[in-house]
Amino acid sequence: MTVAKPSSRAPSESWHALAPEAVLERIRSTPEGLSEQEAQQRLAQHGPNILKRESQNSPWKVLFRQINNPLIWVLLGSAALAIGLGKVTDGLVVLAVVVLNTLIGFIQEFRAGQAIEALARMVPETVTALRGGTKISLAAEKLVPGDVVELASGDKVPADMRLISARNLQVEEAALTGESVPVRKQLPAVAENASLGDRTNLTFGGTLVTSGAARAVVVATGDTTELGRISRMLGEATDMQTPMTKALATIGRYLTGAILAMSVVLLGVGLLRGYALSEALLVAITLAVAAIPEGLPAIVTIALAIGVQRMAARQAVIRKLPAVETLGSTTVICSDKTGTLTRNEMTVQALWTPEGAWSVSGVGYAIEGEFQAEGKPAGELPPTAVELLRAGVLCNDAALQTEGKGSITGDPTEGALLVAAEKAGVRVKEIRGRCGRVDAIPFESEHQFMATLNEDGEGQRAIFLKGAPEVVLKRCQQDGASHDAVLQEMDRLASQGMRVLAVARKAVPASHAGLKPEDVEGGFALLGLQGMIDPPRQEVIAAVRACHEAGIVVKMITGDHQKTAESIGRKLGLPEGEVVTGQRLAELDDTQLQEVAASTHVFARVAPEHKLRLVRALQARHQVVAMTGDGVNDAPALKQANIGVAMGITGTAVSKESADIVLTDDNFTTIVSAVEEGRRVYDNLVKSLAFVLPTNLGLALILAFSVAFFPIQEVAGGVLAPLMPMLPVQFLWINLVATVALALPLAFEAKEPHLMRRAPRAPTEPVLSRFVMVRTAVAAVVMAAGAIGLFSWELQAEADRTGSEGSLRQAQTMAVTTVILFQIFYLLMCRSLHGSLFKLGLFSNPMVFLGIGALVVLQLGFIYLPFMQKIFGTAALGWKDLGLSALAAAVILPVISAEKAWRHRRTGGSIPAHASAG
Ligand code: ATP
Repeated sequence: MTVAKPSSRAPSESWHALAPEAVLERIRSTPEGLSEQEAQQRLAQHGPNILKRESQNSPWKVLFRQINNPLIWVLLGSAALAIGLGKVTDGLVVLAVVVLNTLIGFIQEFRAGQAIEALARMVPETVTALRGGTKISLAAEKLVPGDVVELASGDKVPADMRLISARNLQVEEAALTGESVPVRKQLPAVAENASLGDRTNLTFGGTLVTSGAARAVVVATGDTTELGRISRMLGEATDMQTPMTKALATIGRYLTGAILAMSVVLLGVGLLRGYALSEALLVAITLAVAAIPEGLPAIVTIALAIGVQRMAARQAVIRKLPAVETLGSTTVICSDKTGTLTRNEMTVQALWTPEGAWSVSGVGYAIEGEFQAEGKPAGELPPTAVELLRAGVLCNDAALQTEGKGSITGDPTEGALLVAAEKAGVRVKEIRGRCGRVDAIPFESEHQFMATLNEDGEGQRAIFLKGAPEVVLKRCQQDGASHDAVLQEMDRLASQGMRVLAVARKAVPASHAGLKPEDVEGGFALLGLQGMIDPPRQEVIAAVRACHEAGIVVKMITGDHQKTAESIGRKLGLPEGEVVTGQRLAELDDTQLQEVAASTHVFARVAPEHKLRLVRALQARHQVVAMTGDGVNDAPALKQANIGVAMGITGTAVSKESADIVLTDDNFTTIVSAVEEGRRVYDNLVKSLAFVLPTNLGLALILAFSVAFFPIQEVAGGVLAPLMPMLPVQFLWINLVATVALALPLAFEAKEPHLMRRAPRAPTEPVLSRFVMVRTAVAAVVMAAGAIGLFSWELQAEADRTGSEGSLRQAQTMAVTTVILFQIFYLLMCRSLHGSLFKLGLFSNPMVFLGIGALVVLQLGFIYLPFMQKIFGTAALGWKDLGLSALAAAVILPVISAEKAWRHRRTGGSIPAHASAG
């Protein structure tokens, strides 16, 4: 037997072997929870309920990632070799630049990583707890041992807890055990030595409630929970990799291999041409220094981080980093209706009883409005209609605050029923006080009804049933004629876009104590219908249009009636066509479903399990599917979708856990913004690639050309060495200083004007697309030709004049300056992938000019500062030389413009926005 202090933090405490009362006693709590004061004390004692997880983004890990890079190894090797060969300055400069580059990369990546990890914490977790007997909503991290917490279907269990009451509680413990089949949880104590999986009266922090409800007392928080114990071993699994970073890592490996091979070739060629071994080795090292794109990984991480932050600013929180890229290739968005496409502000606008129909005026939750029968002045309602409204109040979990404009807590559908009742003078408080509730079956999307057992105020009891008309009507005794009349009315209201609820009643004896499933199977009398509007979100209409322009198909999936769905779909601008119901979907086999899924835009009366099949069917047709969901049962569909989208406000914890992104405003428009950002991020990554790679290839070309064709000369000590247009440290200068200073701003590039007017990018499109490769080749050749040409010309001209050593230094400085200026011009061309710079707005990205300005200052220092001249072997240039360099560099402007025009013609002016998922 463990003899423990009441507040022992040991997680191995045998809470499971104790009865609930004993647990409460030992942890010094009560069924009503702790007092607020006691809770504060315990919070100070135990600390907040958070897991101190080992971060992927710890400084050491980031630093290790920077250094653990084959490219860096090659550079370090080169530095060592250079020093070994007596080129100490060269070696030290390589080392200095490597250190500097690692440092910059480290700082940037660390900050980016922090930003990304912070997002995971942006979706706050709240729990319902009892403090001093009052139910309060509490941040999960404020929980302390002894707190009494209510769990409901869809919740994430916030800490380790012992159940004190439970109803059909099932919990999925995959986070802890890896087992995804939900486990049934019960009250009775189990054997002291039961294994974790058999402690069925405990719920563990981090697991998910898949159904049922419970009350439980917290026994361990934070790191003392079972999850805390393993996660300390496992560390956090946030994936900092995306398809792009993985592809780049692979490309990096190949590139390094290729460069090493080419170094060996150059070494051979050098030796064949009679260079001294040390000089030939230096050439090989220089190639590695020049051609490896060291700055690229940092640029990619930063572009992703910027994307993630911008999405967050637009209310889309990324939970899984790869989603940033996948969003950009989304082809279909399947969206829920209520709350996402519509405002989820329900207002009852129509009442119907067998006795008559009334329209209800007023919008929102203000208690002002009148009931009007057709063709008659507004007036009193007959008793049957009042009874309908009363039943709507009793079979209802929402609460209404009537002050001011009025507001509701709970389900807006139910809130609307309360408002309607109050408008007719039925006082919610009064009727609920008189007809107390005995039991209830809560609403669930699958069943589409809710039932309650209430006192009827006259000594008997009654069961109230409300829900979708088809579902309720099936349970009512009704003759054929009136049945038809109800359906007709239901159709009429739904065609106007209204959500229609039917309400029914069944009298039971006072001895009827609880609701069993068979109690709600039949024998009800229909009281009537209530029709409510839920206006479409105005901004969604434009967002749907934007999707269509962007080649993205929007599909609406709703639990509502087909007529309601059809009407809302039309208002939102979805393509018209047949509305397919969940029932139909269930009848289709998988092949038929693919056809229907592709051609249908509105799905009605859909249950969560249909969503999973729909996602699969669309994916079978090579669609990249974004799917929204908020309930527990939406989790499988969210996981299956390429982009699972959860609702930050109304969504359950389970749906958020399964999602790739969470919308903090529950708004469809936000998905479209995220897609736009996703496209922008990808564009900017491609731009960075298209900018960086030509520089590296161009430098390699310059080097290879010189080794192969330039004359050999005698250098200090009488050894033979090649004539080089640039010194090794100068190559390094270009590759590490200039390229990074210029490429980084591309990650901040604003979206292109036609971003949302192109078709989605094919997810199979390789990172090194044909575009990037062609562009790399074209720009590299232009750059190498310019630098070599100008170098040769200057050398010749100077030699003709003086023949001094100064002329070589000058010619080399000119070659470097030409490349740098080339990069500046080329950067401007890279700012837009397809269009011209001027369409983009010359000054739309100030970062670019910051980068250029910084580089110009650096380059002036490089040319004119004596100490820089000493390190980098440069010499001052005159105005004429600078002008010539600029002229040679500017050749890239017409070349890339011509290349863009050529591609523009080949793709027929614009990329077609195909708008069909079929
Ligand atoms: P969407 O998928 O567009 O978000 P939804 O999934 O919210 O819609 P459900 O909430 O599943 O739709 O509602 C389906 C049907 O169940 C509604 O058309 C309505 O008839 C009925 N219904 C909705 N809410 C309640 C409720 N609180 N009580 C009883 N019946 C309800």
